[in-house]
Amino acid sequence: MSTPEWLESWSDDEGARRVRDLFARVFGDDGAPDGVWSAPGRVNLIGEHTDYNGGLALPTALPHRTYVALRHRDDDVVRLGSAQAPGELWTARLADVAPGAVTGWGAYVAGVAWALAQDGHPVRGFDAVVDSCVPFGAGLSSSAALECAVAVALDETGDLGLAADDAGRAALVTACVRAENEIAGAPTGGMDQAASLRATAGHALLVDSRPGLSALESGTPVPFDLAAAGLTLLVVDTRAEHALVDGQYAERRATCERAAALLGVETLRDVDPARLDETLAALGPHDPDGVLARRVRHVVTEIDRTARFRDLVAAGRADEVGPLMVASHTSLRDDYEVSARELDLVVDAALAAGALGARMTGGGFGGSAIALVRADAVDTVAAAVQDAFDAAGLRAPGFLLAPPSAPAGRTA
Ligand code: ADP
Ligand code: MG
Repeated sequence: MSTPEWLESWSDDEGARRVRDLFARVFGDDGAPDGVWSAPGRVNLIGEHTDYNGGLALPTALPHRTYVALRHRDDDVVRLGSAQAPGELWTARLADVAPGAVTGWGAYVAGVAWALAQDGHPVRGFDAVVDSCVPFGAGLSSSAALECAVAVALDETGDLGLAADDAGRAALVTACVRAENEIAGAPTGGMDQAASLRATAGHALLVDSRPGLSALESGTPVPFDLAAAGLTLLVVDTRAEHALVDGQYAERRATCERAAALLGVETLRDVDPARLDETLAALGPHDPDGVLARRVRHVVTEIDRTARFRDLVAAGRADEVGPLMVASHTSLRDDYEVSARELDLVVDAALAAGALGARMTGGGFGGSAIALVRADAVDTVAAAVQDAFDAAGLRAPGFLLAPPSAPAGRTA
C-alpha cells in the first residue's frame, strides 16, 4: 500500500521568493516588482449548491495561496506569466478586455482590472507573474485565489484603498466575481471570492446569498478555532476527472429556478424547512418522477444544516458538527445527485477510520472531500483513505491540512 501524498502549503517567504525569481526570469532586467501579494484558496465546510438559491454557505480560507508579483505600467498593456503556464507570456491591452473578447487564464487576471475600471476606479496596465500551491481544478478555488491576489495588488498599486476594511473588501469581491462570470465566462456564485478576501484566520465566513443583501451584509465571520478544539480539517483532492460537469451545474440551477417559480417564491431560501413536507407535496402534480422534490429537499435541508453548523461552532461546539456533515453528504449524493464514486469513497473510508464527520465539498462530480478529525487521528484517517483508493485501483489522491487561514493581502 502506498503512503499519502501531502500537498504542503508554502510559507509567505517561499511564495514571495518564487514569484520574485519568476518575475526576474520573465521580465529580465526590466526592474523589480512593486511588491508581492497573495490570496488563499478556500474550502467550504457546509452549504453546497445553496448560493444560487439565496442560501447559506460556510467556507474557510486555506493556508494554500496564490502569489503574485506585480509592477504597474504607465500604459494600458497587461503582460502575465505563470509558473502553472510555463513559457507563455499572456498579453492584452486593457482597452480590448470585454465580455467574450479574451481567452485563456489571463482572462481571470485582466477581468479583475476590467471590473475595477467598470466601477469607476482608475486602472493602469501592469506586468505580473503568479505561482500557486492551490491545487488546480480541485474545487478549492484556484481561480478565486488568482483573482483575489490580483485584486489586492491592483488595489494597492492603484491607491484604491479598498482592501483596508471589510466594506472595501466586499467591493473587491464583487469585482472578482464579475471578472470570473463576465470575462472568464465561468457561471459561479460569490462564495469563493468572499472566502478568499474576507475569511480570517481562526474563523469561517458565513456567506449569505439572500437577494437584496448588500455585499457587506453577505459575509459574517464565525469563530472556528479548530486547534483549540483539538480538531483538524483534512482535505482530500480526489484528482478524479469527470466529463459533462458544466451541463450538470446549469441543469441543477434551472431545476431550482423552476421549483421556486412553481412554489411562488423568489428563491428556495424562502421555503420554511419546518413546512418541507407540505412544500414537496405541492410540487407533486408537476413532478411525476420526484426529481424536483429531491432537488428542493436538498437545498432546503442544506441551508438549515448550514445555519445549525454555524450555531454549533459559534457556541464552541465544533466537535458536534460531524452528523451535519454526514447528512450534507448523503443529501448531495442521493437527493442532489452530484457526488462521485471517489468522493463517496473518501467519506466512507474517513468515517470508518474514526473521522467525526466527512462530506464532499464544492460543486461535486470529482474535486475534493473533507473530513473533520481529532488532531491525533489525522495520519490514521489519511492512511485509511489512501488504502481505500489503492484497493479500488484509483489514481492516488492528494491530502491537505486546512486550518482556517488568512485572507488576501500584501505579502512582501
Ligand atoms: P478551481 O477554481 O476549482 O481550482 P477553476 O476551473 O475554477 O478550478 O479554475 C482553474 C483555472 O483558473 C485554471 O484552468 C486556470 O485557467 C486558472 N488559474 C488558476 N490559478 C492559476 C495560476 N496560478 N496560473 C494560471 N492560471 C491559473
Ligand atoms: Mg474556480
